[in-house]
Amino acid sequence: MRTTMMDVPLSLNHLLERAGRLFGGNTIVSRLPDKSLRRHSYAQFHRRARALGSALQALGLRRGDRVATLCWNHHAHLECYFGIPAAGGVMHTLNLRLAPEEIGWIAGHAQDRFLVVDDILLPLYRRFAHLHRFERVLVVPFGGGPVPADCDDYEALLAAADPDGFAYAPHAEDDPVAMCYTSGTTGRPKGVVYSHRSTVLHTLVASLADFWGLRGADVVLPVTPMFHANSWGMPYGAVMLGAKLVFPGPHLHPEDLLDLMQQEPPTLALGVPTIWLGLIQAYEASLEPGSPHAGRWRLPQGMRSLVGGAAVPESLIRAFDRHGVWILQGWGMTETSPVCTISYPRAELRDAGMDERYRRAAMAGVPVPLVDLRVRGDDGDQPWDGASVGEIQVRGPFITGSYHAVPAEPEKFTPDGWLRTGDVASVDGLGFVRITDRTKDLIKSGGEWISSVDLENAVMAHPAVAEAAVIAIPDAKWGERPLACVVFKPGRAATPAELDAQLLQQGFARWQLPDRYEVIEAVPRTSTGKFWKLRLRERFPA
Ligand code: ADP
Repeated sequence: MRTTMMDVPLSLNHLLERAGRLFGGNTIVSRLPDKSLRRHSYAQFHRRARALGSALQALGLRRGDRVATLCWNHHAHLECYFGIPAAGGVMHTLNLRLAPEEIGWIAGHAQDRFLVVDDILLPLYRRFAHLHRFERVLVVPFGGGPVPADCDDYEALLAAADPDGFAYAPHAEDDPVAMCYTSGTTGRPKGVVYSHRSTVLHTLVASLADFWGLRGADVVLPVTPMFHANSWGMPYGAVMLGAKLVFPGPHLHPEDLLDLMQQEPPTLALGVPTIWLGLIQAYEASLEPGSPHAGRWRLPQGMRSLVGGAAVPESLIRAFDRHGVWILQGWGMTETSPVCTISYPRAELRDAGMDERYRRAAMAGVPVPLVDLRVRGDDGDQPWDGASVGEIQVRGPFITGSYHAVPAEPEKFTPDGWLRTGDVASVDGLGFVRITDRTKDLIKSGGEWISSVDLENAVMAHPAVAEAAVIAIPDAKWGERPLACVVFKPGRAATPAELDAQLLQQGFARWQLPDRYEVIEAVPRTSTGKFWKLRLRERFPA
């Protein structure tokens, strides 16, 4: 017997056409480099994305050609998300926070043919241009000076293109639409290539009510860079449902984000924990008597904030809830599109008290549909009992099974076809994943594991602490011991004894307490804004 269903490929083009037809009057707001706001309607977005597709075809783009982007979060980057695949190309988002040599290496490895770049990022482009030659460089002009003679003006190309006569490039659902390199904490960065199919499935699944809970009525503020795992896929979801988008452009400082939230109050915002740590500190400081920012900001009441990319401290969740904002934690990786789990109040927890809800919200969450997840220990699959710990391995239609143009990676994939995430976790009976560490960050003291994540979260719960990162230092007797690097809030401090007391009160055993506390000015950040423990290990080798 054969199915009677039509053989219609899953396609991003459908989402773009749908947005143009159904949501033409909805708005996309972008903050420009000069901090002014530019508004486009979805109707304009639809025309401009098609015009970009048309312009790229006129420049000779062929099916599967890579078009790199070096852009902040704004409307033109969104046009690339849809216009490049519409023309049959593959959007390759370059991470502008990497070293120029690394960006050049990545562009060369991906064999990027064209580049779309913000005018204000041209100086960065010039620093790696010698490492890889793009055939054409399309400059998005934001008033940062004239478009150089050896480049094309993005706006002029769009103005000259014909969106009405544009025809989508024929494609199969497995054709690539986008690629993204992992940050390469071990060895060279590796490319992950997403398809129409994987992207559409990920968008549908992540948007569900229990997970992102995305609706057309939402106002979405993506702080997560569009070069970081496609801003977690949120731009695709917003376009699918016609949600209003508010892009912050290059202005990601807490005060800038708070200002933007007053101008265009979001109902859903997304970013890594360090963004929200900075934001809540600036916000709470503004509420102190005598603050120069008194009365300037109010957090949007009822806003949901999707936070992931690193563990979210319970203290952060509680702090935002005090101000009417609920944090939804998600876990995933560039390799997984990225959403694998999200913490949401399952039906079984509806009557749970607030402490239990906070505790659950501080977990990575429950696997989304289509993601198979297992916990592997040395002796095979671990039970989902909330206590047994092992490496998380995942499998599914939006999880990468290999890397672009590299030899097989046996240490990243199991022989039976699962992705090895390198994250260590337990899963409980309700399916809540609790990440204890990355394999390489675990602290092994006297044969027992200590979770650096648990210690950090407990230290950050101290009212004087702004941020904390815990690393392992070698120890002659115990093998490794924890060292806590602590950043205090301005004008605040705590003694090691006070911090120890805080940890003991939270249930840590004495042997698990850090051997030392080092006070630092700031926790170093990776290119995606996460705590960069490698740098701390270099700074505190012993
Ligand atoms: P990288 O951090 O290497 O640039 P990704 O952005 O793909 O790459 O990050 C994936 C990693 O981030 C995961 O393997 C995990 O270690 C960490 N991570 C993501 N979300 C969470 C979370 N909610 N809790 C703890 N760790 C997380």
